[in-house]
Amino acid sequence: MRRRFETTLRKLWMESPYRSTALARAKVSVKIGKYKNGKDKYKVKYRCGNCGHLFEDGSVEVDHKTELTRAKWDIPLDEDMGNLVPWMESLFCDTDALQILCKVCHAKKTARYMRFLRSGASDL
Ligand SMILES: [Zn+2]
Repeated sequence: MRRRFETTLRKLWMESPYRSTALARAKVSVKIGKYKNGKDKYKVKYRCGNCGHLFEDGSVEVDHKTELTRAKWDIPLDEDMGNLVPWMESLFCDTDALQILCKVCHAKKTARYMRFLRSGASDL
């Protein structure tokens, strides 16, 4: 039950307008040449909020910045779902609490956070 609940909520999150707005904000149109008719040809790319490089669709991920303030996003829903409300609040956060990261930057950030969680330290 808990697992299905969490999976369903995470799926719902994928459709969140906050998430799509965050993606739209990171969108950049890059000129990649010209069509035969002379019009400029553009390709949509996304700027990583950390390294600043441009990436193709599918190579970026929506990251919850709130992890830095130790919100409960990366912490699973408790077995008894006692942390349901804060968990949902951190999952369905505002656009401003999100950033677009490339897969490399996201993996590094997550690894750093996991080390922090394991260390038991009170500050990141
Ligand atoms: Zn990056």
